[in-house]
This record gives sequence, C-alpha cells and structure tokens, in this order.
Amino acid sequence: MNNIVWTIAGSDSSAGAGIQADLCTFHDLGADGCSVITAVTAQNSQAVQLVESVSEKMFIQQLTSLAEDMPAKVIKIGLLASVEHVKILAQQLALYKQTWSRKPFVIYDPVSVASTGDEMAEESINEVIKTQLLPQIDLLTPNANEVLTLSGHALISGESFKPAVDKLISMGCGSVLIKGGHFELVDDIALDYWSNGKREIALTSPRLDNVHTHGTGCTLASAIATTMALDYFIEDALVIAKAYLNQGLKASKALGAGEGSVAHCG
Ligand code: PLP
Repeated sequence: MNNIVWTIAGSDSSAGAGIQADLCTFHDLGADGCSVITAVTAQNSQAVQLVESVSEKMFIQQLTSLAEDMPAKVIKIGLLASVEHVKILAQQLALYKQTWSRKPFVIYDPVSVASTGDEMAEESINEVIKTQLLPQIDLLTPNANEVLTLSGHALISGESFKPAVDKLISMGCGSVLIKGGHFELVDDIALDYWSNGKREIALTSPRLDNVHTHGTGCTLASAIATTMALDYFIEDALVIAKAYLNQGLKASKALGAGEGSVAHCG
C-alpha cells in the first residue's frame, strides 16, 4: 500500500528547510513523498535574498496533476507567500475532503519569517489564512510568534497554553501543537504542547544548546506527517517526530558562515 504524503511548500536553495527538508524527512521515516512548490527562495546560511511565488497557473496545475493520479493520505503545508495561493489552496483542500474516498489529514506549519529573521510572505496574508485556511487544517504547528499572530494570545512563561489553543480550535483547526523550542519558557527545556480540545499532551526534552536550528519547523511537521501516514495515533506520532528532530539537532552543523540546519540521516 502506498503512503503518499504531499509537501506544499517553498524551495530553499540552502536545502536545510522547505521542500528539501520535507522530502528528506519523508524518505528517512518511510513515506512516499510528492511536492507542490509554492515559491522559490534564493537564500544561504546568512539571509534570504529573494522569494518568488510560482504563478497561480503553475500552483493549480501541480495540485491538479497530483490530485488526479496520486492523492495524498497526509498533506503537509509550509511556506505560502501569496494571498491568492492561500485562497486557492483552501478551496482545493475543501474539495479533497468532500470528494476523495479517503479524507486527507492536513498539517499546516505556518512560515512567515525565516530563521534568519527575513519576512517571507505578503503582508496581508494572515487575514486570509485565519478565515479561509485554518478551517481546513487538522493539525496546526505554530511557534509562539505565530500563535500571537494567528490567535492574538501572547504565551506567558509558566502559564497554560490551553486558552491560545482553544482560540485556534474555535477558528476551525482540528488540533494545535505549540512548539516551545523557539521560546524561552522554561530554562533548559524544550516544551511542546498539543491539544485537540478533548485530549492534551505536553512533551518536554532537554533544550539543546549550540545547535543549528534552520529547518526545525519543517522537519518536525514533516516527521509528524509521515508518522500519521503510517497510521500511528497522533500522540505517538508527536513523540516519534520529536525524537527524530532531536537526533537531527544533535547532528546539525554549519555549512556556511551563518547558522546551519537540522541534519537528516538519508
Ligand atoms: N520554508 C522555506 C522555503 C524556508 O526558506 C524556511 C526558512 O528559511 C522555512 C520554510 C522555515 O524554516 P524552519 O523550519 O526553520 O521554520
């Protein structure tokens, strides 16, 4: 049986994040990966020099080509840089959920700012993400800044993440994994919190110092996508994905003068 997972994301010329990291992760963990490229980025370890969304025609055709012949069990979404792409994708996801014999599980890892601090998406994109895309998402994987942008909730050290998650669920997504790895909540601990409104799980692991973190969001979301495609329960998928990411972080290294990327085992 096939375990097709699509990544709908941007190409990263430095290969540590985006489509390149997603496909490596699918391969490592055993999914059959396909890709829909939303944007091509020119970047190195120091900065993002240029982001160019593909044409709407090319975006739609990639989705159609795959949907007609290779429908996905799980769809993982990363960088969406154009408002039009978000609208098209929200419509297509609604159609897949209504018409495919097996409803795809859809994971969205929001990307608006690169790890180098560079803006990646059109300014007005968040409004259409909130109103049109979130209702199609089964698992949203924001970091603290993205939680603030999408829900208006600022996460506070030592306080529960539940109100922010409940707000995001009320906006339409099925479940939320808040990634605490980027966020100095508790010293020395990387804390991730997941809930679907009924069940919840908090995952802690040591915060790894002096590691290169480019590609962590993409890798974690792609590892969850793969484990979901392999039919793990979501709580188990989260644990396996976090373990895979931590191994990648331990082996991460710099290839240029700037920060390096999570390693994939290949
Ligand atoms: N997707 C693309 C194409 C990127 O260039 C980046 C970051 O530069 C990301 C996603 C997000 O990367 P991360 O996994 O570090 O959040």
